[in-house]
Amino acid sequence: MLPVITLIGRPNVGKSTLFNRLTRTRDALVADFPGLTRDRQYGVGQGGPAPYVIVDTGGIGTAPEGIEALMERQVLRAIEDADHLLFLVDARDGCTPEDLEIAQRLRRLGKPITLVVNKSDSTNSTLVTAEFHRLGLGDPHPVSSTQGHGVRELLELVFAQL
Ligand code: GDP
Ligand code: MG
Repeated sequence: MLPVITLIGRPNVGKSTLFNRLTRTRDALVADFPGLTRDRQYGVGQGGPAPYVIVDTGGIGTAPEGIEALMERQVLRAIEDADHLLFLVDARDGCTPEDLEIAQRLRRLGKPITLVVNKSDSTNSTLVTAEFHRLGLGDPHPVSSTQGHGVRELLELVFAQL
């Protein structure tokens, strides 16, 4: 069976953009407004040392009810099925209270997690990346899903832990 790597993070951090890059498709809808990915989306991941299944999810957040809470239940199921989680945060927004809350929940799951600082478009992003250490999920790893920076290194890092 192929390893299953699952993208997690609040809406709009770029999960679907990274999914499309990893699958070399445009299967996942990308938009400027949050909450577009309601469901799980599966693809065969490319560009790593071996094939893998990559899973895009709707955003995880703090909503107690409604469509967002339903979406969260889907996300929780996706997390259960994952071999490795990629927790995406947004370099432009910096470390938000929602990120801290999600990180706390993810830490309790005891699954292998890699912290991905997406939208690190410029090469000089060390400062922004460093602030995410406070999430308590190890070293943050900068990538740019639109430009592709850091994506190959990220896959090597993940595969070393599988
Ligand atoms: P999702 O809700 O987490 O799936 O986020 P999307 O993939 O839909 O992306 C949300 C917005 O962020 C879109 O406008 C993307 O074009 C933009 N975006 C995604 N990745 C990057 C990136 O690496 N750099 C920049 N500058 N924008 C990005
Ligand atoms: Mg999405």
